[in-house]
Amino acid sequence: MPKLPALVPSATAEDFIDDAGIESTLARARNADATWVRELIAKSLEKQPLAPAETAVLLGCEDKGLQEEMFAAARKLKETVYGNRIVLFAPLYIGNRCVNDCSYCGFRSSNDEAIRRELEHEAVVKQVTALEKMGHKRLIVVFGEHPDYDAQFMADSVRSVYAAGDIRRVNVNAAPLDIAGYKLLKDAKIGTFQIFHETYHHQTYASVHKPGTRKGDYMWRLDGPSRAFEAGIDDLGIGALFGLYDWKFEVMGLVSHAAYLTRRHGVGPHTISFPRLKAAQGVNFDSKWFVSDPDFLRLVAILRLSVPYTGMICTAREPAHIRDTVLSFGISQVDAGTNLDLGGYSEQGDATVVEQKPKLDKAQFEIGDTRSLDAMVGNLVEKGYIPSFCTSCYRTGRTGEVFMEYAIPGFIQKLCTPNAITTFQEYLCDRASPAVRASGERMIAEELAKIPDANVKAMVGERLALIRDQGKRDLYV
Ligand code: SAM
Ligand code: SF4
Repeated sequence: MPKLPALVPSATAEDFIDDAGIESTLARARNADATWVRELIAKSLEKQPLAPAETAVLLGCEDKGLQEEMFAAARKLKETVYGNRIVLFAPLYIGNRCVNDCSYCGFRSSNDEAIRRELEHEAVVKQVTALEKMGHKRLIVVFGEHPDYDAQFMADSVRSVYAAGDIRRVNVNAAPLDIAGYKLLKDAKIGTFQIFHETYHHQTYASVHKPGTRKGDYMWRLDGPSRAFEAGIDDLGIGALFGLYDWKFEVMGLVSHAAYLTRRHGVGPHTISFPRLKAAQGVNFDSKWFVSDPDFLRLVAILRLSVPYTGMICTAREPAHIRDTVLSFGISQVDAGTNLDLGGYSEQGDATVVEQKPKLDKAQFEIGDTRSLDAMVGNLVEKGYIPSFCTSCYRTGRTGEVFMEYAIPGFIQKLCTPNAITTFQEYLCDRASPAVRASGERMIAEELAKIPDANVKAMVGERLALIRDQGKRDLYV
């Protein structure tokens, strides 16, 4: 097995996850009185993040009526902070070689059945061309952890994506790097760097990640986002893989991580992800920690209430009906038209209509929502959401602390809604099926009419005309 170079740990790394402390906070917070739960809901509606001990109170509430109040509050909060837009993206798997042996993953080194490969420049261009044909503008590139996929390789892959055409934002999901590695990615102009801690519970972490592997080093991973901050990347995504341990503990881990990053770097994570374990080649699950649908919905609502300004991503791992449900009370980003097979986008034929099932010998896990991008866009419109392909914030430098400054006074809606509408118009002109174009144009007319500020409304109206009548593209504020 090829070896990774030695680690350069950060001198400031801190283990802020106290397992026993989290367990006892959760136990103390069980079935708190209704007044307290309502006070916390009210605090969240004031757009104040909850402390982990306060999140524990929401997690410990088993009263169905109060849970309904949490769902209603999460809906309201989502509407006030994010409006009715949903950002769309697609994952692009670049390489599935991996030196780690995570027991839950189809790419683990001991999976001899997996077909291993990586996409070099030409192959990346081919995938990106297929993704652009669908209408995507925002991708997340994904890598296994392998000496062949060092930071330079990742940076080159990101550059290949940008060079291939009109993808406007490239995020990365990969194993954490050292500071020098992150700097290479920053130079390649990545958007968000995403690292999921998988499980915050130390003992479980040790049992699913083989000792002696890079991934087996809990602290190296936990400190990964902080090293990225130190390297100047202030747009970070965190996440946990639900189904390895108690879901309430993992929610506590995520909010503790968000609180830690805010304390240490002055900015919380840009996004939180909460994938549930899916079937993968040769993987046997312990059903003990399986997260049921009702619990999954609760965890999404509680996360929404706990971190009002953090974007929340629900991927195509979840089936369509679950994704459609959580859209209303927490989620700000979804992927669509997803194909996890390496090289799968260019092999799938007419990407606007075909629904894909990944082949498990080439994909990391099974997906639950196989709708094409066009089908997802049509579905969002039908449910009253504006599909957004906006990439403006990071291109205008609204990231990290600056992003928070914009988000807190509610400016996001003034910037995001116009950008959502104009990027959606581009999609309708260039890529939509006739039915989606018709319903989308109706939505745009309604959304334009709803813009309260006369100047903003006039500006958006002018831009829509430029896009429709003069073929102008990429107009953003
Ligand atoms: N190799 C990098 C790493 O481990 O950070 C990239 C991660 S992997 C390609 C992306 C994420 O997929 C992992 O962090 C994990 O949370 C998730 N994942 C792995 N196996 C999964 C499974 N069977 N079901 C659902 N998600 C899974
Ligand atoms: Fe490798 Fe990441 Fe899969 Fe673990 S989760 S086996 S590190 S690709």
